[in-house]
Amino acid sequence: MEMDDDKKRRSMAIYMLLAIIAMVALRTYLYPSIMATQVKDVSYSQFINDVKDDKVKKVQLNTSSNEISYTIGEGADAKEYKTTAWPDDSSLVSTLEQHKVEMVAQIPDSNANMWLYLLINMLPLIVLIGGAWLLNRRLKKAMGDDGPSMNFGGGLGFGAGLGRSGAKEVKGEETGITFKDVAGQDEAKDSLEEIVSFLEHPEKYAAIGARCPRGALLVGPPGTGKTLLAKAVAGEAKVPFFSISGSEFVEMFVGRGAAKVRDLFKQAKEKAPCIVFIDEIDTIGKRRDTGLTTNDEREQTLNQLLAEMDGFDNHKGIVVLAATNRPDSLDLALLRPGRFDRRIPVELPDLAGRESILKLHANDVKMESAIDFGAVARQTPGASGADLANMINEAALRAVRMGRLRVSQTDIEESVDVVIAGEKKKSTVLSEHEKEVVAYHETGHAIVAAVQDGKAPVSKITIVPRTSGALGFTMQAEEDEHYLTTREEYKQRLAVLCGGRAAEELIFGQMTSGAASDIEKATKIARAMVTQLGMSERFGMVALGESRDRYLGGVNEITCSEGTARDIDTEVQALVEEGHQTALQTLRDNRFKLHEIAHYLQKKETITGEEFMRILKQDDGFAPTLPKQT
Ligand code: ADP
Ligand code: MG
Ligand code: ZN
Repeated sequence: MEMDDDKKRRSMAIYMLLAIIAMVALRTYLYPSIMATQVKDVSYSQFINDVKDDKVKKVQLNTSSNEISYTIGEGADAKEYKTTAWPDDSSLVSTLEQHKVEMVAQIPDSNANMWLYLLINMLPLIVLIGGAWLLNRRLKKAMGDDGPSMNFGGGLGFGAGLGRSGAKEVKGEETGITFKDVAGQDEAKDSLEEIVSFLEHPEKYAAIGARCPRGALLVGPPGTGKTLLAKAVAGEAKVPFFSISGSEFVEMFVGRGAAKVRDLFKQAKEKAPCIVFIDEIDTIGKRRDTGLTTNDEREQTLNQLLAEMDGFDNHKGIVVLAATNRPDSLDLALLRPGRFDRRIPVELPDLAGRESILKLHANDVKMESAIDFGAVARQTPGASGADLANMINEAALRAVRMGRLRVSQTDIEESVDVVIAGEKKKSTVLSEHEKEVVAYHETGHAIVAAVQDGKAPVSKITIVPRTSGALGFTMQAEEDEHYLTTREEYKQRLAVLCGGRAAEELIFGQMTSGAASDIEKATKIARAMVTQLGMSERFGMVALGESRDRYLGGVNEITCSEGTARDIDTEVQALVEEGHQTALQTLRDNRFKLHEIAHYLQKKETITGEEFMRILKQDDGFAPTLPKQT
């Protein structure tokens, strides 16, 4: 970052230097030639003499300024003169007539000359500023938005104070959204209930002297309904709802974002009681760093926001809601009491939550009766509210494509696959051999999953390629939600993930690229077991990593010495290898079932969990055997 800063400053300086040289050159070479055509001032008697000498052909009199201008010579040699008319020189007209000089009153505005002069002087300055602005913008774009912004905009006095905040105001009743439109999220709703009651009757709280929270922060992964909840609070309390996204504050000119904040709160104070909703607050609320690089614009905006939050009189009932999925990057000053002191977690929905979200969105579309939403909910652990809403919509789209008037269970199940793995890809044509490999791979996963004691039975296996790049997938559905995962369960997961590659090795004696995402997932699990969950013998309960951005998939930073890092790798490798061996052993023991199911899958392309279990359990002398516990 600092390097970039230096570079930026240097190119700015070079630009300035060049611009100044150009300006000086213009002044010394171009102007004198322009100024040469300037009008020369002469005395009145000189003018009379020139007339009498018959040098003058034409005289112009400006009646308002009483100025006389005339030309001597013709063409390129012509020179212009001017003088002031002598008051009451009654003989002038007759003298001019005598010498046959053409007389014209009211000459064209001589100010035109002055304007030209001004323009020529200003032009380089305009070019200089414009160029600097463009250059700054280009650099900024090239470096991303984190670069410090040049302060010349604010300095010149434009920028700040321009325009309104751009916040969208929606009347509370008009958001049309209430808590009924948010399924699940009961804890979040409970916390927000108090804010609703405060907005409805701020005077009740004032009477007893209670201070209601000024701000609450909705925290959770994307698509869990944070924005929806904020709107629902406004709808429940029937108050105006001002919403603005954090990124709208981030402006080119220093001070502009701060002006927007000021304006937003001014509007809010006029309309109180009301809700101010700042979406994606992390864009402005990022922790101010102590390093050398600063972002003036963002800091000023943040400071203004902090000041406004302290400043408003809360008896009127203004509540500031904000949403973020990166709470750990927020500036601590934002979180202190009196600002966003309430943190309302909005987590991914659990089994019951998923089912109710599906049902809620299903109300908007025509469904066949007797749809099993519970089954869909079981197949979609980890899906957010937005994913589920999307699934229902995809199902409706599919029903239309199929020319049906109502959405059926199969539509929904298909759309689950689409949302999880992408649209079926028609253009990918696998050769029979490739199809066979994929069938064995997926069957490998499924058999290892089924043979392990299996809290998550296989619900579907398919080898239809997807637009996401997956050539097939095996879906497991959790029977019921559980929040604790044991070390054994993690190990089983590792074995299941290794099952695909193990089957390929066992049957074809070769490895393919098809296991890439399995390997990635397995490594991630094993690494978490060692560094975060204290599940390795070697390190025990020592945290070896720090996780950030939990709501955005989580980034794990290793915090240990180099030697330890190497040991972690060994440990991770051992865990994955153990899973690999378990998978190999399981598949070896169930070799015949592997062949049978893989061939069936190759023929049918998609089979359900029941079909799979039926063949697996079929007593044809090849009953599945459990692996020997190691
Ligand atoms: P976030 O702001 O948390 O990223 P949104 O509030 O924008 O998520 O949610 C996106 C969409 O997902 C909503 O418009 C809604 O259709 C759906 N959705 C998410 N959570 C829920 C929920 N709990 N109940 C009903 N719909 C939900
Ligand atoms: Mg949102
Ligand atoms: Zn796989």
